[in-house]
Amino acid sequence: MISENKLFEVSEDGFYGEFGGAFIPEMLYANVKQLQTQYLDILSLTSFKNAYDNLLRDYVGRPTPLYEALNLSKKYGARVFLKREDLNHTGAHKINNTVGQVLLAKHLGKKRIIAETGAGQHGVATATVCALMQLECVVYMGAVDIIRQAPNVARMKMLGAKVVPAVSGSRTLKDATNEAIRDWINHPEDTHYIIGSVVGPHPYPDLVARLQAVISEEIMQQLKTQTGSADPDYVIACVGGGSNAAGAFYHFLHNEKVQLIGAEAAGEGIESGKTAASLVVGKRGVIHGCMTSLMQTADGQIVEPHSISAGLDYPGIGPLHAHLFQTGRALYNSITDQEALDAAFELAKMEGIIPALESAHALAVLPKRHWKKEDVIVVNLSGRGDKDLDTYMKNLPSYEQA
Ligand SMILES: *Cc1c(COP(=O)(O)O)cnc(C)c1O
Repeated sequence: MISENKLFEVSEDGFYGEFGGAFIPEMLYANVKQLQTQYLDILSLTSFKNAYDNLLRDYVGRPTPLYEALNLSKKYGARVFLKREDLNHTGAHKINNTVGQVLLAKHLGKKRIIAETGAGQHGVATATVCALMQLECVVYMGAVDIIRQAPNVARMKMLGAKVVPAVSGSRTLKDATNEAIRDWINHPEDTHYIIGSVVGPHPYPDLVARLQAVISEEIMQQLKTQTGSADPDYVIACVGGGSNAAGAFYHFLHNEKVQLIGAEAAGEGIESGKTAASLVVGKRGVIHGCMTSLMQTADGQIVEPHSISAGLDYPGIGPLHAHLFQTGRALYNSITDQEALDAAFELAKMEGIIPALESAHALAVLPKRHWKKEDVIVVNLSGRGDKDLDTYMKNLPSYEQA
């Protein structure tokens, strides 16, 4: 069912329906206002577009392939295509956004870049573009994630970034974001905050969605060549903050023939109390400057999230997704840790591709639904699994442990 609000673009004051906005402390007002008034103009400059497109092509390695996974297709009885964001430089979609935002920061004359990171992919992508542009880089990361995603911490250090542990709360992504916002408040003049997903105060959700929209732009062109039609029947993507899903959905949002499916991290199950399924168990509330669907107690305290995947371990979600969920434009499935692990091992064995744990949540939608033989399904493979090998080896399926 589609409600009366048929539009999925952000409004001038930063809202998607009743979600979004910019709920910020006064100290950030000038920074956020500057971004709000300038981001669309800068993104539409020919010089910006050329620099962005050239870097995506020659540095990031775009377009990424759209690969028809024949073994998976046979198993699930439909045509399954994988959008290979895992083949981007640095191994995930995150760099599409950081390349764009670092160019934006240069336009704004900023000298210093800060970022938050969960699995470390956004931190690595930010450290990478800062090395490229010779800008100072500080990345905030939860102390728990520093341990569970150690290879990415090493990469950030080698790239010249300073990694600062967040030691409050559950010591994961939410807490790293708090620290990054605190830093920005203390350095409003010279610093640009590169947020890694479609979250935070307006204009970040729209800014990041536009920078990730290259994913669906390419999907349309590639599908047209490979199947004769630019429109798939389904697009499936995992949702942490929701940036890879926003990018994969973007050019299909107004085409209701395309069914959009997000995969949220259910953790140990949505009833377990150990979950990160912000849409299914959340209620309307403000986190990190944005009105969205938020996991909270009856009196509004944020509930600590849980997911085996550090990149999905967040109690909120981008306001676009809260709106797509509320209007019914997109469906959201909750995927448990175990279902994601099973899907990761299946992809490795059946297609020779080791996915990120986050991306495995999207793959885990395949066995959950009934498909028709002629269905064209695009699964956005948001990242590669090298960073997760330790977790995979600790969770080997029982038939492999002997
Ligand atoms: C960060 C990350 C995610 C989750 O972030 P979104 O903004 O929801 O895309 C998903 N997959 C990978 C590989 C990531 O690195």
